[in-house]
Amino acid sequence: MDLTFTPEQTAFQEELRTWFAANRPTDPPDDEDAAYQWRRQWQKTLHGAGLAGVHWPKEYGGRGATLSETAIFFEELGRAGAPLPADVLGLLLAGPTLMVWGSQEQKDRLLPTILDAEESWCQGFSEPDAGSDFGAVKTRAVKDGDDWVVTGQKVWTSGAQYAKWCMLVARTGDPAEAGGPAKHKGLTYFVLDMESPGVEVRPLVQITGSPEFNELFLDEVRIPDSAVVGGVGNGWKVALTTLMNERAGLAFFLQVRLRQQLDALVDRAAGAGGTDGVIDDPVVADKIADLHLRTEALRLLAWKGLTAIERYGQPGPEGSLGKWLWSETNQQLVEVAADVFGSEALIDGEPWAYELLRARGNSIEGGTTEIQKNIVAERVLGLPRV
Ligand SMILES: Cc1cc2nc3c(=O)[nH]c(=O)nc-3n(C[C@H](O)[C@H](O)[C@H](O)COP(=O)(O)OP(=O)(O)OC[C@H]3O[C@@H](n4cnc5c(N)ncnc54)[C@H](O)[C@@H]3O)c2cc1C
Repeated sequence: MDLTFTPEQTAFQEELRTWFAANRPTDPPDDEDAAYQWRRQWQKTLHGAGLAGVHWPKEYGGRGATLSETAIFFEELGRAGAPLPADVLGLLLAGPTLMVWGSQEQKDRLLPTILDAEESWCQGFSEPDAGSDFGAVKTRAVKDGDDWVVTGQKVWTSGAQYAKWCMLVARTGDPAEAGGPAKHKGLTYFVLDMESPGVEVRPLVQITGSPEFNELFLDEVRIPDSAVVGGVGNGWKVALTTLMNERAGLAFFLQVRLRQQLDALVDRAAGAGGTDGVIDDPVVADKIADLHLRTEALRLLAWKGLTAIERYGQPGPEGSLGKWLWSETNQQLVEVAADVFGSEALIDGEPWAYELLRARGNSIEGGTTEIQKNIVAERVLGLPRV
């Protein structure tokens, strides 16, 4: 990967800087639902400027940006302090998965409303007994005429309270295979309409106090056969496309967010806002230097990941390394912030208190650190399975 920008890339970067400077969103409201609507409006503004799906091909309404331009977009979004669009799951996960595996009818119906933020998505993979062990999925889909009848429970379903559609993985094969040696067979990937009868969303309150995710109960929900994505029994492969896009797609934004947080921390440690220049404390300085090195390594790793996508057309297992290092570094950062900010980082409602608590989930969401380490060991380094 050559990190020297071409004149076109530099021009794109300048275009983005100008646009973000002129279109800075206002501060988000405190209320969770209002904040979601605020991010939805922000996505519509991005869409109006052709920036909601920069990485989406032009045939699907995107800007058709190259991988490097997409990386520049996320870097500039982060640098401007702008939020991610409301429907990250639609834009980064569901959309790209449908582009690879979806039928023409599914693409025509579902892709445009992702871009313009009219309909949002959630991801119904995890179950009470199937998280890391995705092959243990027990939610059952049984064919009945032209429909599938689906019954089961999903959990930790982020954004289900706002979603119109769900990327749902259910077992269409032999239920006895769940968790067994053939567990990856017999899974099927569906698009579930969250307004279907039999769908119930119950909020789960996180340690931060906000109900960001939910339990999702499915009681004899009818899903038409036309909503199967990638063929019956092929759900494992389709879900892998979603998961790899999740890890690779967020890599750029997350490392830029990390840099922003670190810069804010350094400013405060250096005396801004009345912290008495604790950066002169060699222990604090040492910790901040370490965070700087990790953040810079993550930035370079995210760019390196582009090489794999260019080579294989899809994100590869290398994205797991970035996910693992990002979650570790972000958790380290918020702990250093708590040292620097003192009691402010422990007061309910303060932004750094939220960050401190929210970061606990980083090493679980999108696949736990242990699972990322297994993927790196087996699929990147080629080490034997234990
Ligand atoms: C903030 C947040 C948002 C989330 N959003 C979603 C969402 O929108 N949709 C969705 O489907 N899921 C979501 N999840 C769920 C997440 O994907 C799962 O929590 C995660 O995959 C782990 O599954 P589990 O909780 O069942 O833990 P388990 O799989 O039961 O793991 C328990 C522990 O055992 C370890 N472990 C398990 N297997 C192995 C192994 N083979 N080798 C080594 N260690 C192992 C794990 O690392 C972990 O420490 C979210 C989670 C969080 C925290």
